[in-house]
Amino acid sequence: MHDTFRSAGQVLQHYRTLSHPDVLDKARQFVIADQMAELGLNPYFAVFESSEGTEAVVEGKRVLMFGSNNYLGLTQAAAVKEAARDAVERFGTSYTGSRLLNGTSQLHLDLEEDLADFLGKESAIVFSTGYQANLGVLTAILNGSSVLLYDQYSHASIRDGGRLSDGPAYSYPHNDAEALDRLLEEHQSGDRGCLVATDGLFSMHGDLAPLDEITKVVSKHGARLLVDDAHSVGTVGPAGRGTGAHFGVEEHCDLIVGTFSKTLASIGGFVAGDRAVTNFIKHFGNAMIFSASLAPPNLAAAKAALGVLRDEPERVERVNQIARTWREGLAKLGFRTHGETPVVPVILGDDLLVFRMWRELLNEGVYVNAAVWPSVPKGGGLLRTSVMATHTDEQIQQALGIMERVGRRVGAI
Ligand code: PMP
Repeated sequence: MHDTFRSAGQVLQHYRTLSHPDVLDKARQFVIADQMAELGLNPYFAVFESSEGTEAVVEGKRVLMFGSNNYLGLTQAAAVKEAARDAVERFGTSYTGSRLLNGTSQLHLDLEEDLADFLGKESAIVFSTGYQANLGVLTAILNGSSVLLYDQYSHASIRDGGRLSDGPAYSYPHNDAEALDRLLEEHQSGDRGCLVATDGLFSMHGDLAPLDEITKVVSKHGARLLVDDAHSVGTVGPAGRGTGAHFGVEEHCDLIVGTFSKTLASIGGFVAGDRAVTNFIKHFGNAMIFSASLAPPNLAAAKAALGVLRDEPERVERVNQIARTWREGLAKLGFRTHGETPVVPVILGDDLLVFRMWRELLNEGVYVNAAVWPSVPKGGGLLRTSVMATHTDEQIQQALGIMERVGRRVGAI
C-alpha cells in the first residue's frame, strides 16, 4: 500500500479523483487491487465455487461460512428452492420488461400482500433490488422543496438516492437523535418538509438505530421516517418483524424498505407503507419504471422464504442465540466486538491487519468479510462476521478455535 496513504480506502479514492485528458486513463493506472490480489491480500470479489449454506468452497478451499447475509439459512430450504423451480416452469425465466408495462404478475401482487401483512402496513411494492428500492422511494418522494436527513452510516443506496433527488441532503452523526433534533429544527419549516432515513440494523457494526428516540424527534417536528430494514427483517424484533417492532414504534416508521437478498434468500427489494404513498412511488420512482421487473424464480423464492419465516419464528430465536454464543466466544478470546444482532464485528483498526487476518482465516477454513474505510470509520477496519440459524454448535466452536489460532498468529489478540 502507498506510504502516503493511511488507509486502503484512501488509496481507492485517490484513483477515482485522478484528472487526465483521457477519462479512461485513471483506470489504466489503477493496478493496486491486482497487486494486492497477487499478494493474497485482496479480500474483494473472492470467487465461490459452491455454496451450501453454512459451508462453501472458495478459491478451491472448503470453508465455514461466516460472511453471508443468509441469516436464517433459507437459501437451502427445500420449500424455497422448490418454489423457485416451479415459478420458472410456470412463468419462464424473465418477464423481459418493466413493472409498468409487461412485468407485473400475480406473483408480485401475492408477495406484496404478504410483505404488507407481515410488516403491519397497508401496502408494499416490490423492486428489482433493495438498492433500487431506496433510489426509487427517495427520488419519487423528495423534490426541490424537501430535505433528506440521513444517518452518516446509512447504506450507500440511501446516500445515492439523496444525491439523485432534487432537494438537499444532509447527514447527521451516527445514531445521534439530539443532533437530528437540531437539524430538524433548522430544516423542517413552513412548506419545507424533511424525510429522515436510517438503516435499522447497520450492516458493518451490527448495531441498531435507536428508533425509540428517533421516532420521538421525527414526530415532534412533523417530519417523516424511512427505515431501511434490509438486515433486520427476519433477525430483529418479535418474530423478525424488524427494528420498528423491536422498539415497539412500527406505526411511526412511515416507510420500511427491505431486500430479499439477505434473510429472504433471493434478490429484490421492497418498500412498505400507506397505500397512497406506495402508489405514488410506483408512478414516480424511475428505479422501478425504467428497469426490468424482478424475475419469477426470485419472486417465488422470496415469497416462500417469507412463508418459512412466518411459520418457523424459532429460526429468529436460534440465529440470535447463536450470535450471542459467537460474540461472547470472540470477546472471551480477547477480540474487540460489540452489538446485539447476528452481525458480529471484530474490530482490528489497521487495514493491513484486516487483510492479513482475512487471508489467514480463509487459508484455515473460515470465510468472513473485510471492511475498511469508507465502509467503516477511518482507522476502524474490521472483520464483519455473521451467523446463520443453521450453523451448528460444533461449527461455532470449530470457527472459534480457528479465530483464536489465527488471531494469535497475526497479533490481533
Ligand atoms: N440497504 C442496506 C442496509 C443494505 O445492506 C443493502 C445491501 N447491502 C441494500 C440496502 C441493498 O439491497 P440489495 O442487495 O437488495 O440491492
